[in-house]
Amino acid sequence: SHRFDSIPLAPPDAILGLTEAFAADTRSEKMNLSVGVYKDASGVTPIMKCVKAAEQKLIETEKTKGYLSIDGLPDYRSDVQKLVFGDRIDAGRIAMVQAPGGTGALRVAGEFLARQCSPTRVFLPNPTWANHNAIMQSAGVNVESYSYLADDRRSLNFEAMLNDLSTKTRPGDAVLLHACCHNPTGVDPTADQWKEIARVVSSQGLIPLLDFAYQGFGDGLEADAVGLHTMLDACAEAIVCSSYSKNFGLYSERVGAVGLVAGTPAAATASLSQLKVIVRSNYSNPPRHGGAIVATVLSDDELTQMWKAELEEMRLRITHLREQFVAGMAKQSGAPDFSFLLKQKGMFSYSGLTAMQADELRTKHGVYVVGSGRINVAGMDEKRMDWLCSVVADVLA
Ligand code: PMP
Repeated sequence: SHRFDSIPLAPPDAILGLTEAFAADTRSEKMNLSVGVYKDASGVTPIMKCVKAAEQKLIETEKTKGYLSIDGLPDYRSDVQKLVFGDRIDAGRIAMVQAPGGTGALRVAGEFLARQCSPTRVFLPNPTWANHNAIMQSAGVNVESYSYLADDRRSLNFEAMLNDLSTKTRPGDAVLLHACCHNPTGVDPTADQWKEIARVVSSQGLIPLLDFAYQGFGDGLEADAVGLHTMLDACAEAIVCSSYSKNFGLYSERVGAVGLVAGTPAAATASLSQLKVIVRSNYSNPPRHGGAIVATVLSDDELTQMWKAELEEMRLRITHLREQFVAGMAKQSGAPDFSFLLKQKGMFSYSGLTAMQADELRTKHGVYVVGSGRINVAGMDEKRMDWLCSVVADVLA
């Protein structure tokens, strides 16, 4: 008999399944709030102008498609270092590796924890991006969770979070923190709360693993790094997995990085060598194009200004949609107050819709929302906000 005959079918990805169903939906008024990418006012995920300009430059100047080194493009790595760490860490203490997206960065970081920091466990917030669990398990790290979201599903249960971090962990465990724009909830700690978290992480001897996938989508490029910087001020060691999928719109180009901060330059050198061993047996070396785009934009003042302006436009669109939606829901008689959405950061929020309400919203009205109630605010159409609010009010009634 065949070797593959008894292989069971893997469950489909819940969110990608909705994307397929949305594409097949023939209703003209449909609206997709389930996807994980930014959409502009015309409903497309655009190529940023600074990216197009950088690509044009690259076409003219690029001399080779030869392999990059295992740790990636030097210019890209130093740009990421500046974006993520600013100048607060001595460069000698940083090991920086270009990676295929934030996902690739998390996988490399997870394998590093499994191989070099054993018997470490990684604590994930509850809830978190579903792939965190899968990536860390595949990397061979034991996964635990810490409390994050309050029972109202719209705010941080700060007390429970600190309590878990200080009682469930052992020194040497890693704790994954969304540096900003928590996915899926949109609930971030305040600057003061970050100080408390950093104090507990440091006093417990934990390794902060910061997932930085949405820099520039919350309060702005620099403001979004405040939590991360607070953590770095308190802890001698940290790992930051960053992604440029969202803030450069480079999703399919797979652009990310692992930035490891070690206590000493010698430890950074040894850590870098181990990160490279992991990369070598996974994908050998990272893809060139996306990293080259980022490096081209950030080496040119004009393109950098263009990037910052375009990123700010995306951020403000999201903020504006949040405001419009909240105001629109306030006009629906009997609908609950949605003003909690104004405090939340980034593209995502838990709307409070139940799985059944999300289901009804899709089947009855063609509005696609993930079963958890997570909405992608950037998927809203400002021209049809009143309609959206009326159908949301309908399923909540
Ligand atoms: N972390 C979080 C929290 C995310 O939401 C995402 C993207 N959905 C990523 C990491 C990874 O992004 P990518 O691999 O596409 O760069």
